[in-house]
Amino acid sequence: MLFIFDIDDTLVDTSATITPYRVQKALQKLVEKGLVTDLETASQEMAFFQKKARTSKEALQAFFQKHHLPLSHLTFALDALYKDDLAPDTPVRTTPFAVETLQALSSYPLYIVSKGYDYLQHQKLEKAGIDTAIFCKILIDNVGNKGLFYQKILNENPSTAVMVGDQVEGDLLPAKKLGLWTVHMRWGRGVIPSQNPCVDFQISELKEMLPIVPMIEGRV
Ligand SMILES: [Mg+2]
Repeated sequence: MLFIFDIDDTLVDTSATITPYRVQKALQKLVEKGLVTDLETASQEMAFFQKKARTSKEALQAFFQKHHLPLSHLTFALDALYKDDLAPDTPVRTTPFAVETLQALSSYPLYIVSKGYDYLQHQKLEKAGIDTAIFCKILIDNVGNKGLFYQKILNENPSTAVMVGDQVEGDLLPAKKLGLWTVHMRWGRGVIPSQNPCVDFQISELKEMLPIVPMIEGRV
């Protein structure tokens, strides 16, 4: 059996630490450029849009629309959110018991398949204190199709595989299509229980993986 983990809001508590910090940085840049006058009001408005949006990108787009800001400036605001290096003072932490759970599962092959930029995803792991040596491979999906990366792992290591991620559509649906077991990590925007039939198990903390392992082993 092997395990594949997502990073954001699965191993790393991105939505409660990194995202609010980087949204604030993006708004500060808009203030510096004279596009927004009051940082505090802008922060409150963004917090409102964040609650309604599926992604921070959508929230930022809604903010731009409301203020009729030129879309030519959206790129640098999005870069501040998704692309720029993590500033040294960026708060980063794991989700609860991530390190302990990885350690407990370390007799199995462990993989990461995560969407984003390679350098940034590695910075998140490092700053969160996750020892990357525990993973056989860390694959960063820069095309938006995690299924390709799951298939690559299965080709190299044909085995019962379990995918753990917070995004039902992005993480778990392509996993289920390839016959993987799926665990929905209910964290961040994915906190609401999913009714999607592609979800085999739901957890709200990673340590809940441990009793699931013998259940899967008993069914294969
Ligand atoms: Mg995620």
